[in-house]
Amino acid sequence: MKRVHQLCPQSIFFRAHPSSRYSIAALIGSLEADHRLVELEIRAPITLKMEAIQKSVERGTTIVAHSVMSTQAKRVYEEVRRMREMFGAKVIIVGGGPHASARPRDLLSSGFDYLVIGEGERALPELIESLMTGKDPLEVPGVVGRDTEILPQPRDLPIVNLNDYPPFALGLNIVGPIEVTRGCPFQCKFCCTPFLTGCRVRHRSVDSVTKWLTLAVERSGFTRAWFLSPNALSYGGRGMKPEPTKLETLLRESTKVEGLEEVYFGSFPSEVRPEFVTQPILEMLRGYVANSSVQIGLQSSSDRVLSSANRHHTVEQGLRAVEIALDAGFVPHVDMIFGLPGETEKELHDSAELCYTLVNMGAKMHGHVFMPLPGSAFESMPPGRLDHESRRLLGELSRRKDMTGSWSAQENLAEELWSQNRESEGSQLK
Ligand code: SF4
Repeated sequence: MKRVHQLCPQSIFFRAHPSSRYSIAALIGSLEADHRLVELEIRAPITLKMEAIQKSVERGTTIVAHSVMSTQAKRVYEEVRRMREMFGAKVIIVGGGPHASARPRDLLSSGFDYLVIGEGERALPELIESLMTGKDPLEVPGVVGRDTEILPQPRDLPIVNLNDYPPFALGLNIVGPIEVTRGCPFQCKFCCTPFLTGCRVRHRSVDSVTKWLTLAVERSGFTRAWFLSPNALSYGGRGMKPEPTKLETLLRESTKVEGLEEVYFGSFPSEVRPEFVTQPILEMLRGYVANSSVQIGLQSSSDRVLSSANRHHTVEQGLRAVEIALDAGFVPHVDMIFGLPGETEKELHDSAELCYTLVNMGAKMHGHVFMPLPGSAFESMPPGRLDHESRRLLGELSRRKDMTGSWSAQENLAEELWSQNRESEGSQLK
């Protein structure tokens, strides 16, 4: 028999790792925009204290929502276990984020009541409304629970139109970058974006962007805007090639918003694919943006490794993008992934050496170690491992502040993910 919560909750706490705070902002925005949820008390403290939940459950059943990154899963499972021990059925624990879509069974067996698979803007408000009104949440497309027999994949669910939802939560003043593009037609095997948001590219319209920027200036004193995109220079098109006119319209209109002093585009946390970087586009960008850097995804010094990771660009295109960025007056920040599946020791060392060449040209490096992310095509691959020489080379660049990024911590995280993936595979087979 399906379980329907009879004690209708009126408050929700959001729990997020700093790295998923931006997606939480958009989700809270979708709750704030839903007129059926005006009675809902929403809280998203930077640090979630059990005492705060205790106080809330004394007043009634409370929802706790987690956005779960795969690298944080163990910590979240432990927290859910403690929460359940302390509050029993007085908390309804709901989850979303990449790990909920990729490993729903693991989350449900660790104590979550309901999960939102795939994009959350439509399903989360529906789920919360169902809980508040005593309806069956499992009727909501994309929501699963322990009673769900067939778990959908994100690609089975309707896609979200970004224009229908706020990009952030102005009510709670949780304001971050505006996601302008979602979905990616490239299917790089180390990346879980195509699994989570699909290969069909959608963009937030210029009107929607300027509307929310204007509101953010008025209500939150926003003076700087920045944007989220899997490939910033793909704005306006179908994702396979740039659409410079549409991109320029976005930048021109965004920079016209009164009260906005600076617009950042194509820099972290967004990235650009090398083959989208052309001289006219970067010169146009230079005329509008405040960022001094552009983030370019090169990933390897080896065409063979790039090809086996399904990157669909060459090293030569990466080097050309770096040169064009420098000529246009940007500091190229170049992403590299070390230890990609199938990379030989020589290719690993060549990638580390290439970083020195790029730094000598004027670039800064952003280093990663390959992590087998659940939901990516490489999820069953062994973790990236550095050797003494590559660690020495990257360590030296980091000490000189020519390389940033969590490559060092990611070596351990990658090992943890690898064992977590094998445990998960084992438990699905039982
Ligand atoms: S790494 Fe970038 S280009 Fe490749 S699939 Fe992911 S988002 Fe798309």
